[in-house]
Amino acid sequence: MSQFNEFVSFVRNLYSTSDFLPLHVPIFNGNEKKYILETIESTFVSSVGAYVNRIEEIMRAHSSVNRAVATVNGTTALDMALKVCGVGQNDEVITQALTFVATANAISYNGAIPVFVDVDYDTMGLSPKALLHFLETHATVENGVCKNKKTGRRIAACMPMHTFGFMCRIDEIASICDEWSIVLIEDTAEAIGSKYKGRPSGNFGRVGAFSFNGNKVVTAGGGGMMVTNDEKIADLAKHLTTTAKVPHKWDYFHDQIGYNFRMPNLNAALLCAQMEQLDKFIINKRETALEYKSFFDSMGITFRMELEDCYANYWLMCIELDNQRERDEFLAKTNDAGVMTRPIWKLMFDLPMFKDCYRDSQENASLLSERIVNIPSSFRPKL
Ligand SMILES: *Cc1c(COP(=O)(O)O)cnc(C)c1O
Repeated sequence: MSQFNEFVSFVRNLYSTSDFLPLHVPIFNGNEKKYILETIESTFVSSVGAYVNRIEEIMRAHSSVNRAVATVNGTTALDMALKVCGVGQNDEVITQALTFVATANAISYNGAIPVFVDVDYDTMGLSPKALLHFLETHATVENGVCKNKKTGRRIAACMPMHTFGFMCRIDEIASICDEWSIVLIEDTAEAIGSKYKGRPSGNFGRVGAFSFNGNKVVTAGGGGMMVTNDEKIADLAKHLTTTAKVPHKWDYFHDQIGYNFRMPNLNAALLCAQMEQLDKFIINKRETALEYKSFFDSMGITFRMELEDCYANYWLMCIELDNQRERDEFLAKTNDAGVMTRPIWKLMFDLPMFKDCYRDSQENASLLSERIVNIPSSFRPKL
């Protein structure tokens, strides 16, 4: 790509600014200040409070599930999701190498071992084909337990991720997991408000885990959420994230090693105000996506759009360049011009702590890892 100047002026015009243009910034034009002030005045700023209950009910309804449990961030939601699904020491968890590091970290926190299968080129999320191929080659189901024939370890869970808010083929993945007795946990940290065949992200597996970090579509400052239809799993999640304290008027009795993982009321207040604006944010971002699309079409560059079965939140928008050299030149020139762009993540097995993990061919992940670049994607107040 040689049209750097065209891109820089287009994006500056899009966001009506000649200042530094960040990748994604939060916007607080709703009830954020009001709710936070209320929280401070109530003195309930910590992990018990009305806004925590309220955001759990909002997310429960939003995800069309029975229960939601709020956590301090998305990483703890993933960590806890694995724990309450019984994933532990020496289990294997199938995931994608093309993801943010938190996905693989959460697996490791539980003493489990990530197994990396390829993504689909079009969705950039876990490939059902690659998953099935891995299982047919390496796994067997004995007495309802899926085992890796080579390592002898249990394959306990599969954790696909919806890259940048584009949905992976999650229904196919769900039926494969079902057939092979593997628990499905959705890392839907990036996909709040995205849908697959009309069904909300987070609704497809045993547990869905969201993130509300400051760079996501809606933010709690820091926050996460587990959603599930399983009452027992939700009860256990709430118990473990609340230091495993057995409820009692005055007595401190903890029946196991628990965690201080609950979302504070202060953060929940911010998130409640943000969730009121989610639809507005997504409609605005989808409009921006269309403008990018027609610009990049005219430049002969691929701008990634949602596929037929997907309604995307367009969290971080992205283009696909021809090769790594072009990508690096684009990154250098745009960042030099004060327009923030970022490459997609390095593949997990290229990081030192995951270098020995099993991986399949990784054809698609490798190509995408070299070619995909994120471009400014914030809400546009002036639209
Ligand atoms: C943001 C993100 C997380 C982690 O969320 P935090 O709230 O930052 O802990 C996990 N997985 C993916 C794919 C993410 O993008």
